[in-house]
Amino acid sequence: MRLDSTLAWPFFTDEHRVRAERFEGWLERLLPERFDSEAAQAPSPEEQVRAWARELGSEGWLDPCKRLDVRAMALAREQLAYRGGLADFAFAMQGLGSGAISLFGSAEQRERYLPEFFSGASIAAFALSEEHAGSDVSALATRALHRDDGYVIDGEKCWISNAGIADTYVLFARTSESPSKGLSAFIVDAAAEGLAVGRSIRTMSPHPLGTLRFNGVRVPHSARIGEEGDGFRIAMATLDIFRATVGAAALGFARRAFDEARSHVLQREIYGAKLADLQLVSGMLAEMATEIDAAALLVYRAAFAKDAGAARITKEAAMAKWYATEAAGRVCDRAVQLFGGRGVTHGEIVERLYRDVRALRIYEGASEVQQVVIARTLLKEPLLG
Ligand SMILES: Cc1cc2nc3c(=O)[nH]c(=O)nc-3n(C[C@H](O)[C@H](O)[C@H](O)COP(=O)(O)OP(=O)(O)OC[C@H]3O[C@@H](n4cnc5c(N)ncnc54)[C@H](O)[C@@H]3O)c2cc1C
Repeated sequence: MRLDSTLAWPFFTDEHRVRAERFEGWLERLLPERFDSEAAQAPSPEEQVRAWARELGSEGWLDPCKRLDVRAMALAREQLAYRGGLADFAFAMQGLGSGAISLFGSAEQRERYLPEFFSGASIAAFALSEEHAGSDVSALATRALHRDDGYVIDGEKCWISNAGIADTYVLFARTSESPSKGLSAFIVDAAAEGLAVGRSIRTMSPHPLGTLRFNGVRVPHSARIGEEGDGFRIAMATLDIFRATVGAAALGFARRAFDEARSHVLQREIYGAKLADLQLVSGMLAEMATEIDAAALLVYRAAFAKDAGAARITKEAAMAKWYATEAAGRVCDRAVQLFGGRGVTHGEIVERLYRDVRALRIYEGASEVQQVVIARTLLKEPLLG
């Protein structure tokens, strides 16, 4: 991936620039086959995710998740997504799955869980969604009953990334009926008695995903993150940070689609000239490049604001995620179009990117939810004058 023009932008420090260049060098030295998660001889997505987490962790590349350095996480996700969806996914989940503990965990919880997540020895997951509670978090039905000796958890989670391979789940469950303070967050070990992995869910691009059943799972009070009733706030503050990095992953996919399309139109002979010579084709390239830059500006702005000390970046992160994921969908679609019949052929990079990028407009808050969040935040801002 070409980093020069991106890193010249004023959002980044020299430390970010050096790190991104070193990471790029490391990625370039890996065999390109490592990133082809769908090759016939490739290990299962689950095995690939474990391997990526271990490798990224042991080389210190998960450190930005430890420091919650949002710009460094954004750059790393962009660089990984440029090459392969599962490599990015492994990085993202170690960050999202550990985020609530990093932000709100007690010293003891941080000491016990975080080093293993960041070394890649232990796999993390974030279990919020349920079959009837995706966008509508208030419908969450998994319950954690407060007892003198801890909590008893019952319920079912759906669409959980890393279900079945995670060692530890950050779980959100209902502890009361209060509309604003009804949820609490817990750390649940995968080996806990009564916790079972249900069905595995196959999606249009490789992604370890499944359901989880909690049947009388007991956890001590010390497994709760923050105070009882803080769950919604913890989930949203964690998503604030990671939504901006979903935008960054979208950017990586889009940049790759653009590069593939650019090199294709410069080579493909048509009507006795090159595809790039057609004005409508130039127009498509111009649209793709401009949308990529617009997305990058929104992603880096959100990341910069958080790193600069903003308590919340709800609006900025929602704008970054919404715009970047939608723009990446359009960019990948145009790349497929420019490849003609090859564009829809299995094994072509643009065909894979077209599938890889789709789920980003749905998870961590669908595009429409981001629009609602943006408008709600704007409407709360004081009137001028
Ligand atoms: C690949 C993948 C990985 C995931 N990983 C995780 C994970 O690790 N942990 C986790 O907890 N969850 C995860 N999810 C779940 C994901 O967050 C939910 O799928 C998402 O929040 C949408 O919820 P839903 O599927 O129930 O759709 P619904 O909530 O039923 O929404 C359906 C559609 O309705 C529209 N919509 C929703 N709300 C509004 C609104 N207010 N206004 C207008 N339109 C609206 C949107 O278009 C939305 O896509 C994952 C999902 C996918 C696909």
